[in-house]
Amino acid sequence: MEHLDCVVVGAGVIGLAVARALAGRGREVVVLEAEPAIGMHTSSHNSEVVHAGIYYPAGSLKARLCVAGRSALYDYCASRGVPHRRCGKLIVATHPGQHGRLAALKAQAEANGVNDLEWIGAARARALEPELACSAALASPSTGIVDSHAYMLALQGEAQSHGATVVLRSPVLRGEARAGGVALDVGGAEPMRLAARCVVNAAGLFAQALAHGISGLAPESIPACHYAKGNYFTLRGRAPFSRLIYPVPESAGLGVHLTLDLAGQARFGPDVQWVSAVDYSVDPARAAGFYAAIRAYWPGLAQGALEAGYAGVRPKLQPPGGPAEDFLIQGPRDHGVPGLVNLYGIESPGLTASLAIAEEVCARLGASPPA
Ligand SMILES: Cc1cc2nc3c(=O)[nH]c(=O)nc-3n(C[C@H](O)[C@H](O)[C@H](O)COP(=O)(O)OP(=O)(O)OC[C@H]3O[C@@H](n4cnc5c(N)ncnc54)[C@H](O)[C@@H]3O)c2cc1C
Repeated sequence: MEHLDCVVVGAGVIGLAVARALAGRGREVVVLEAEPAIGMHTSSHNSEVVHAGIYYPAGSLKARLCVAGRSALYDYCASRGVPHRRCGKLIVATHPGQHGRLAALKAQAEANGVNDLEWIGAARARALEPELACSAALASPSTGIVDSHAYMLALQGEAQSHGATVVLRSPVLRGEARAGGVALDVGGAEPMRLAARCVVNAAGLFAQALAHGISGLAPESIPACHYAKGNYFTLRGRAPFSRLIYPVPESAGLGVHLTLDLAGQARFGPDVQWVSAVDYSVDPARAAGFYAAIRAYWPGLAQGALEAGYAGVRPKLQPPGGPAEDFLIQGPRDHGVPGLVNLYGIESPGLTASLAIAEEVCARLGASPPA
């Protein structure tokens, strides 16, 4: 059996950020990824928004790691040439009955250390975005967009330059907590058994399934996982907006919002559809709900302008209708297995928070910062 220092399970944005952080500290790192390429699940099925850190309860991991991760991500992208743009966003109230929600969001943002939100009236909002229908808006100048694939490639390249190895087509089938670390059975074309001093479970939508396969890890420490699919529709032609446009948030998502990619393509979504299995198909019939939601803030949206786009699946820790849960990062002190960190419920803002999550994982493993 091969003995390794650190194994990261999953080459999504979180696993790659963790691999970079550990390798940068001089640790030996192998990333095991089930799929034939990096980032094939949630990390390539999202809105690619760099979130400011507005919505999350003060003191939560989501609030803290989003704010820290956002600033680290902008610095990282600027210094590594990862395409990104601080385009800003407007959160819009479509009638005065929503102004209280906007005021509450501004207060929440300030409690999270996000002090740059500006309350703007309808006339000012329309001067910025002439096609917008709203009664008031919050402008968030520190929200932006990032090319998530270029970002993951940069993380992978940097991890590898520090000696990490990323092994594709290598599903971790099961594990066993034992003295001095965790043994893992790896499938694929050349199945193998290896032992690692540290194992980071960054398997995203499948983190709970992997955790249940690790003998010696108490099953009661593993939270239930619920899947909330988010469907996107894309706009034919150019969008008449230059900022991201968000309605006031709904229960399990942020509402059907408009985001732009770096090429200027507009997409709307994600909505919230609770599902029992991971499935990325988009039912074109859902377009009707999108037209209605979008026309609340963009009445000029022409019939027939939307096309079914893509979908992502959120790994939720709460069931449908339940109160929003925080990220759950469990280290040895939480579950009692030395060397093991499990990451659960890493939904939005996980992309934004990824560099800060990686630092948090290193701290839980007692991996000291690079000299
Ligand atoms: C619809 C939607 C929109 C979002 N929008 C945003 C946004 O705009 N901004 C933002 O900050 N965040 C956003 N997020 C959240 C963000 O995309 C995620 O937090 C992030 O991508 C999670 O990355 P991950 O590495 O944990 O998961 P993943 O990208 O899913 O990676 C997990 C990897 O583990 C691998 N794996 C699983 N099991 C095994 C196994 N047993 N063995 C080996 N490999 C395994 C998988 O193949 C996968 O590659 C959004 C999420 C969704 C669903």
